[in-house]
Parts: sequence; structure tokens; C-alpha cells
Amino acid sequence: MSVLIVGSTALDSIKTARAEVPRLLGGSASHAAVAASFFGPARLVGVVGEDFPARYLKLYRKHHIDLEGLRIAPGRTFHWSGEYEVNMNNRRTLATELGVFATFSPQLPESYRNSPFVLLANIAPSLQHHVLDQMRRPKYVVADTMDLWLNTALDDLLRLLKRVDGFVLNESEARQLTGEENLARAAKKIHRLGPRHVIVKKGEHGAILSAGGKLFVAPAYPLERVVDPTGAGDSFVGGMMGYLAGARGPVEGNLRRAMIYGSVVASFCCEGFGLTATTRTSRAAVEKRVKELESLTRF
Ligand code: AMP
Repeated sequence: MSVLIVGSTALDSIKTARAEVPRLLGGSASHAAVAASFFGPARLVGVVGEDFPARYLKLYRKHHIDLEGLRIAPGRTFHWSGEYEVNMNNRRTLATELGVFATFSPQLPESYRNSPFVLLANIAPSLQHHVLDQMRRPKYVVADTMDLWLNTALDDLLRLLKRVDGFVLNESEARQLTGEENLARAAKKIHRLGPRHVIVKKGEHGAILSAGGKLFVAPAYPLERVVDPTGAGDSFVGGMMGYLAGARGPVEGNLRRAMIYGSVVASFCCEGFGLTATTRTSRAAVEKRVKELESLTRF
């Protein structure tokens, strides 16, 4: 089954202690769509400007990502730049230039409206609503977010939480949203806002799922060297949704394994700048790491 993914489609300029790389293919939807594509068909909804390099369109196509929902609009592509500290965990946004995203209103092609799985990747909650408004009874909807929307569009986000099955956010966002330091209690509070599945990402320490009154802990794959973690969260949720869409049976029965696949795709993402390492990975390499992760956590 296909996954419809809406989010940012961006050019990212990234600076680490070791290197500085301009105008890479990035954006929450780009990372998520490539991650989902390892497991089945992904449909992209987004907008890019006339400056968007043709080689990036080719890269999407190489991953068989359906681009019918990607608009090329007059103007410049959304550009984000960020800088990491030496520890690679702390990141600072240097600039955000909205470009064609400033006036974007996603219009779904007819063929997308019955997609069973929907990933509302990080983008303004009003746009996430707009996509959901156009869908016909999706089977499973997950939303991701970022601190910016907690600070600037909280009402829209709270309304969105009533419309989704799953919600993914990082630990500092979970604390900010609930005013609760303890993540198990924060997850309980988030359930009360709507979603029956809550996933709290903890970066290099993995992710916690709260569902059906139980917790599950998915570790991150331990890497010896992180080159660039940009998009790891998007790759995690994209890989998870791609796996769920390709798996048989109810979502509840597949969710834990899906998170492990998400963790593994995110680990590849961290091994190169932007999407470089993810786009060089194969399904076989993903399976190999899933097996390693299984043996690393068996006791
Ligand atoms: P992550 O590292 O998973 O938090 O995601 C990083 C990605 O988010 C980058 O590829 C950026 O292009 C994208 N991004 C940064 N700021 C925004 C924003 N305000 N809205 C949507 N996407 C953004």
C-alpha cells in the first residue's frame, strides 16, 4: 500500500565541525519519502522553486517516488541552513528562507486522495490540516512536528492532534507541550489530546512508543561516527510508515518492528550529509542492520 507524505521539500546548507556543504537535497518530506521508498510506493506532496536542481528530481525518481503531487512554482525553493556543535547533538538554525513555501497550499492529485497511509511530516500544522481535509478516509495517519509550531501555531497543532492516529515528536517538544519532565507521564498527557499512538524521539538514545497502555523502547543503531544527523527524525518516521504500509495485518501488531526499521534507516541518514548516505543504501543493507539491532538487544 502507498504512503502519502506531505512536508517540506528543501535545499539545506549544513555546517559541522568538519565540513560545510551548501544546497543539499533536504526537507522533512524528502527525507521521509526516500526512507519510506525502501518498503513500497511513496507519494510526495510539496513545492519547489524553479531553482530546484534537476538532479534532485532524478534522485526522487531513482527511488520510485511518485511526484504527481510535487509542484514546481515560480520563485525560489525553501532554503534552510543549520550548524552543529562538535557533539553533533546541538543544532542551531542559521537561516530559514521560505521562498515558494510562503504561499503554498497543497492540492492533492485525485490519485492521492485514497492513500491508506498518510504521513504529515514536519510543516505548518495549517498545511497538515489542509492535506487531511482532502483525504478520503485514510487507514492510518501520523503527524510529526517541531518546536517552531509549538511556539507559533499551537492552536492549529492541538486541533490536528484530534485528527491523527499517531503523533511523533522529540523529547524536548514532548516536555514543552505537556509541561511534564517525565516522558512516560508526558506521553499519557499527549494521549488525552487525541492520538492513540505517541512516539517520543530521543535522538541517539532511540525512541519510546506509548500505545494500548504499554510502553516500547526502540534503540537507535549505535554508530561510531555521525557525519550529519539532519533528517534523522524524518527518516525514522518515513521508514516506520513505509514499513507499516508494506506489512500485513493491523498496524498495532507491526508498530514495534516498524520503529526498528525506522531507527535503522535513520542510522544510514546520519552517515552522510543530507540524503547522500540514505540514497546509497539498499533494502538488503537495511535488513542486515535490523538483524544486528536484534542481536544487540536480545537478552
Ligand atoms: P530533522 O533533522 O529530522 O529535524 O529535520 C531536518 C529537516 O527539516 C531539514 O531537511 C530542513 O529542511 C527541514 N526544516 C527545517 N526547518 C523547517 C521548517 N520550519 N518547516 C519545515 N521543515 C523544516
